[in-house]
Amino acid sequence: MSKDKQFVREITPQSEDFSKWYLDVIKKADLMSYSPVRGCIVFKPDSYEIWELMQRELDARFKETGHRNAYFPLFIPESFFQKEKEHVEGFNPELPWVTEAGGEKLEERLAIRPTSETMIGHMYSEWINSYRDLPLLINQWANVVRWEKRTQPFLRTSEFLWQEGHTAHEDEADARRETMQMLEVYREFVENIMAIPVIMGQKTPSEKFAGAVDTFSIEAMMKDGKAVQAGTSHYMGTNFAVAFDIKYLDRQNTHTYAHTTSWGVSTRLIGAMIMVHGDDRGLVIPPKIAPTQVVMIPIGPPKTREQVIARTDELFAELKKAGIRAKVDDRPDQSPGWKFNEYEMRGIPIRVELGPRDMENGQVVLVSRISGEKKIVAQENFVQEVQQLLEAIHQEMFEKAKRFRDENFTDVDTLDEMKEFLDKQRGFILAGWCGSEACEAQVKEETGATSRNIPFEPAKEKDTCLVCGEKAKHTVVFGRAY
Ligand code: AMP
Repeated sequence: MSKDKQFVREITPQSEDFSKWYLDVIKKADLMSYSPVRGCIVFKPDSYEIWELMQRELDARFKETGHRNAYFPLFIPESFFQKEKEHVEGFNPELPWVTEAGGEKLEERLAIRPTSETMIGHMYSEWINSYRDLPLLINQWANVVRWEKRTQPFLRTSEFLWQEGHTAHEDEADARRETMQMLEVYREFVENIMAIPVIMGQKTPSEKFAGAVDTFSIEAMMKDGKAVQAGTSHYMGTNFAVAFDIKYLDRQNTHTYAHTTSWGVSTRLIGAMIMVHGDDRGLVIPPKIAPTQVVMIPIGPPKTREQVIARTDELFAELKKAGIRAKVDDRPDQSPGWKFNEYEMRGIPIRVELGPRDMENGQVVLVSRISGEKKIVAQENFVQEVQQLLEAIHQEMFEKAKRFRDENFTDVDTLDEMKEFLDKQRGFILAGWCGSEACEAQVKEETGATSRNIPFEPAKEKDTCLVCGEKAKHTVVFGRAY
């Protein structure tokens, strides 16, 4: 067997066992390590750098829309959680508690934050006095802990990294506008930067955030047809304002409760990126968040080596100057073939090959990770060609993921039709729903699929509930989810 085949065989094919494929890829690509603490992973540099690039893009968007970053404490007094009934019920099972510190039992237990509405609500009640203090638009980059029963690297971990935006507004209209604005920021980021197509919509009441009036989400389909909730944006109404006494003197000089929102995306998106774009050869990283966008590999016999490397370095300097994240691998002790496989497995969007013949012809070879296509380009247009190819790769990745999603999307009239579909293949199902919790629960019980969201723009509207046959109140996207 050739070295090439041996190498690929270390990754289980997606069609054989998708979960195993996922674990093989993240292990081989050196993205994470399991820690000694259950459900907590180490983000190694290759995944952490992806997160840093995601942060950079998101942070710029948050600031453009008027938000500022702040940092709030990790520990939340138990009494804070008691103030909002639904919130405490929703989060209590997942909270880790600090009961002792400094060798003494604490008077009040401290929760390690699962999310910061309570702490931030408490602070906002001190900070907000008048309508002039509103809107208050703050974001926090932080780690949070939710003691999850079922965990999976990146997608669902007990401790994860995220950002949480928390805003307070004069009235419902302004808070709802913010909720929608941030959902759109997430859609634009996930689609235009991560090349992942998403479905925007509203969560059903049973799936909404504990304490929210309305929760909205973006949902993505993985290559095994399962769903990942890629981001959420919540309109809280005055629920947290009442619980934490966030009141202000309005323009008529009366005391009024503020309307609040919160919104977050997490390191789960790294898992989604791997599952949407990866293939049997390994990772495929979208160019805009790839820590290395271009890997340059000089090739050829020893006698031309020095010359080829010197030219590679010159071209590398051109890329660097243009702000493209590139690296040169001129290690003499690894063969070009080994390097090609290695960087394909690591998902680097473009490989550049330069050999003696290319030197003679004033050309260079570009290879796209996603299509495997080779393109020979003139060295004088090198930077421009790389820039264009990076853009084209992004587009191709997005289109490919969208095609896959559309091909694995159906609509049904009855629960039996839905079961039939899920027996045959995996994917999303559009169906009518009467609005009753019982019907929604029955879908879950009988198929394992949950309502993902009520899409803003469904492909079609369904008339009757798939379970009871009554008139449908909503058209819902269902799917099995991570
Ligand atoms: P939530 O506060 O529940 O609306 O979640 C905010 C964001 O964090 C959403 O994008 C979730 O998909 C994500 N998220 C929730 N739980 C986890 C977890 N255990 N690990 C990683 N991401 C999570």
